[in-house]
Amino acid sequence: MGLKNNYLITFVIGTRPEAIKMAPLILEFRKSERFKINIILSGQHDEMIRPIMDFFKLKEDVNFKVLGQCNSLEQTTSLILNELSNYFDKYIPDIVFVQGDTITAFVGALSAFFKKIPVGHVEAGLRTESIFSPFPEEANRRMISQLASLHFSPTKLASENLLKNGIKKNIFVSGNTVVDALNLVSERKKKFEIEGIDIYNEAFILTTVHRRENWGEPLKNIARAILNVVKKNDGIKVILPMHRNPLVRKPLIEQLGNNENILLIDPLPYFEFIMALKNAYIVLTDSGGIQEEAHTLGKPILILRDCTERPEVMLDGKALLVGTDSKNIELELNNLIQVSKEFKELKKNLNTFGRGDASKLIFKETLNFLKEKN
Ligand code: UDP
Repeated sequence: MGLKNNYLITFVIGTRPEAIKMAPLILEFRKSERFKINIILSGQHDEMIRPIMDFFKLKEDVNFKVLGQCNSLEQTTSLILNELSNYFDKYIPDIVFVQGDTITAFVGALSAFFKKIPVGHVEAGLRTESIFSPFPEEANRRMISQLASLHFSPTKLASENLLKNGIKKNIFVSGNTVVDALNLVSERKKKFEIEGIDIYNEAFILTTVHRRENWGEPLKNIARAILNVVKKNDGIKVILPMHRNPLVRKPLIEQLGNNENILLIDPLPYFEFIMALKNAYIVLTDSGGIQEEAHTLGKPILILRDCTERPEVMLDGKALLVGTDSKNIELELNNLIQVSKEFKELKKNLNTFGRGDASKLIFKETLNFLKEKN
């Protein structure tokens, strides 16, 4: 025991939220001389990940650039699996880290498992009732749990889900690294501007929508609700940073492109997005990461989904599942706007997802695990 002094750790990252939630952890490991770090990007997101890597001053060792080469989940899976298999033939890390529930995270865990390399899973234990929702993420996260050696749960509830699934060892309630990242952003004081709105003084709803289950009809319903709400409420604006996916952008531009109070913009750099979030009256989103961030900042949230793997955000009564029925979204948004002044005054930080020290805990437990093993 304890014979080895230096370890190689590999982080496998596919999408923007994975980069955001891995970044503080990578920075933590980087502080230690005992770890050599490899960062692998699968390229599941390309353009959207770059500003995050730049913001946190991270540089990948390799990028498989799968986006554009794959038209299906199967192709994405097999391409990343082949690339990782070849990579791990050359470089054998002591541990591989994956985050969340994307195809990249699942395949990262699977290929490490095939080579008998231990896997650390960040944000372990989120669950919905149905393996098909969200698709394919719910299945991905369940499968990762079966393959991983270390499970870092953001909350107690998530850790209990793992116990229910029969995972018995190495479950740690670490908090979510999304809060660590949020804290790193908050250290910067710089202001910024979005054309068409003064985010520091005007009332606005911040909206994002990107999930697969909302493509098509649900997206049109959401857009209809937003338009009606803006028409009905003088002085309320909407900022909508659009995901790069054309299936998301096209219907939004078609339905909302002509209203001067609805600002359809490109994805914001991470720092600017967090600044917008801090100043928003209301958050309307189907994003998981944004729910965690908005909740941590004490914002009222309407969740554009029928079910959630993050029931914790609803416990303070300031988040509501509104689904994608346009009448329902409209009703709940109008209600919230009525009381939004009160919400603005209610700003307080919540620690549901931790206090921003998840990375430190994960570092410590990983080092213990590796020392025991070697
Ligand atoms: N985000 C960003 N710019 C934007 C919109 C979101 O940097 O214009 C960040 C946000 O702070 C959050 C993450 O992207 O941490 C969420 O990503 P997304 O909604 O794509 O994925 P999910 O969390 O649903 O997996």
